Amino acid sequence: MTIAQNQAAVGGLSAAKTAAERFGILERPDLTFTPEIARETAHLYDRVKQFVPAFEWPVYAPYVHAINRLKKERGAVILAHNYQTPDIFHCVADIVGDSLQLARDATKVDAGIIIQCGVHFMAETSKLLNPEKTVLIPDGKAGCSLSESITGADVRLLKERYPGVPVVTYVNTSADVKAETDICCTSSNVLAVIESLESDTVLCIPDEYLAMNVAKQTKKKILTWKGHCEVHERFTAAELLAYKEADPSIEIIGHPECHPDVIAVCDFAGSTSGMINYVKDKRPARVLLVTECSMASNIQAEVKGVDFIKPCNLCPHMKRITLPKILDSLLFMTEEVLVDPAIAGRARLAVERMVNLKQ
Ligand code: SF4
Repeated sequence: MTIAQNQAAVGGLSAAKTAAERFGILERPDLTFTPEIARETAHLYDRVKQFVPAFEWPVYAPYVHAINRLKKERGAVILAHNYQTPDIFHCVADIVGDSLQLARDATKVDAGIIIQCGVHFMAETSKLLNPEKTVLIPDGKAGCSLSESITGADVRLLKERYPGVPVVTYVNTSADVKAETDICCTSSNVLAVIESLESDTVLCIPDEYLAMNVAKQTKKKILTWKGHCEVHERFTAAELLAYKEADPSIEIIGHPECHPDVIAVCDFAGSTSGMINYVKDKRPARVLLVTECSMASNIQAEVKGVDFIKPCNLCPHMKRITLPKILDSLLFMTEEVLVDPAIAGRARLAVERMVNLKQ
């Protein structure tokens, strides 16, 4: 089910009473850069000054200031994925992390409103784990090539073709797909999830490269699907070897959504959290992160003394989320993410099995 189809399917739910009707609409604040705003946001500018030129901060700061004030007034919490831009990641987010961290942390937040700065499937996952809370995404069109590569109907056909084979679904999928799944996984726990199953054969969908990479680490037979991340599939082994040739001291660390040929030339491969931990623990002198470009900037702001080489592949979907759109979310309580109750229970079970898996 595409985002548009999902929105149409749950449209009847939102028609009852919208989030704006439940919480009210707020007046747009004055977005003038005043000395008071400069003073109150100075510590935040310090975190992002490597990426935001001083002459641009007067444009960013009023949004940062207003968002931080309004999220308290609304009782909202902002979750931001590692691929969000540094202004969002370091200046307005309350909780940051990869898909698994955000899914887990979403269950622990006290706030009644969750603003998900990421893509639509992440907001759906937060809603599945927090059915009583209001989940908003600042741009409902923030999709994902992996998520959109497969539908619930496709999974039903796979199950007909491979009866009895358990289905492990990457969290980068719609609730409709999760509902047809035995258990979800992320790039950080995919091996543990597969090993937790008794079957010798496992359907690991929809990311073909993640499945090919994990197949090298397990004795189980892995069946997959032809979904790809449009950001990670752009990297090539030849391009990375050229960096290595130019400077053999560069450490290359890659994300398992990349093709196995790319992973083969990496010094380390892991989820976004695994990559962050690697850089923080090992402190390589020069490092190239084979993943979405903003993540390198976000770590760079925290880790001193590491030279980041950035072949800049940006995720166009993640970049739909901006400070002005986050502000609009808080003012107008848009765009609310709802999950059709007919699928929510089964989809939640698949996510909860993953979250509760002992590792
Ligand atoms: S980086 Fe890839 S997997 Fe992540 S949201 Fe963008 S397209 Fe989807």
